[in-house]
Amino acid sequence: MSDSEDLGHGITVVDTGFQRPLFDASHLLVQDGRAAFVDVGTSFAVPLLMAALEQHGLAPEAVEYVILTHVHLDHAGGAGEMMQRLPRARLVVHPRGARHMVDPRRLWDGAAAVYGEEAMRRVYGGVVPVEPSRIVEAADGFRLELAGRPLLCLDTPGHARHHLCVWDEASRGVFAGDTFGVAYRELASERGALVLPATTPVQFEPEALQRSLDRLLDFAPRVVYLTHYSQVSDVGRMAGDLQRRLAELVAFARGEDGRPDRRLRLRAGIRELSLRWAREHGTRLPAPRVAELLSVDVELNAQGIEAWLDRDRR
Ligand SMILES: [Zn+2]
Repeated sequence: MSDSEDLGHGITVVDTGFQRPLFDASHLLVQDGRAAFVDVGTSFAVPLLMAALEQHGLAPEAVEYVILTHVHLDHAGGAGEMMQRLPRARLVVHPRGARHMVDPRRLWDGAAAVYGEEAMRRVYGGVVPVEPSRIVEAADGFRLELAGRPLLCLDTPGHARHHLCVWDEASRGVFAGDTFGVAYRELASERGALVLPATTPVQFEPEALQRSLDRLLDFAPRVVYLTHYSQVSDVGRMAGDLQRRLAELVAFARGEDGRPDRRLRLRAGIRELSLRWAREHGTRLPAPRVAELLSVDVELNAQGIEAWLDRDRR
């Protein structure tokens, strides 16, 4: 199942189909016949993204950039294969992420050690290396132009140390990857989107993340384009919610550190916190359904929190 939606300002969200509908987004930017993708999902998304291009009447040669917010596989897994299909494109990635795109083996093996090789094949397909000569390392302040439309890359550590966000002056929007958390559409209420922190392993750093959020807010964005899932407005309210929830999550996790049953308590606690935030937000879905929608996030967030606690102690 695939879907795409026009968000205005030459921006289209394409559902990569990863996990479930409306979970994992790729954004296609089109300016005067030139195109860029921000995040691409897994290798299974490649035909969907190519179809979205064709729907815009664009040839593969029209794509100038594939921009990755970071190299986690739900954002970057399909990048190598996309680059094979897009002869003129350059891959824009954080300097700390570039080597993982040239040699994705470590990225793959790291995840395969946790999930197993067979599950990895089923969920992510595969990962293809990218020619170093086609990679542009985007340090903080790096400015791209898509047919004259400026796109500013910002170093935004916290979710991962190799995370960048893209400020798009034309839409007054930020392509935020996972820095601005996740906001699944099913969980929205009359207040708007429910935003939850994304503390995925293995480089979660809460202080850096809070600073990165402040940095994004300095631009006074009108909208934010999340990878999970796509456009949200009401940015100030959401940022407040997100920063408060991050602080609460971190305080809770510190309180559990050092306990022998930390692992279980963190999972149960993060689940309870998420359910409470959904309830307070006015999410309409019954709690078991909310828990189901957030089950992968709860597990990954707990793993990321544990990795951070262990690093923090050293
Ligand atoms: Zn993600």
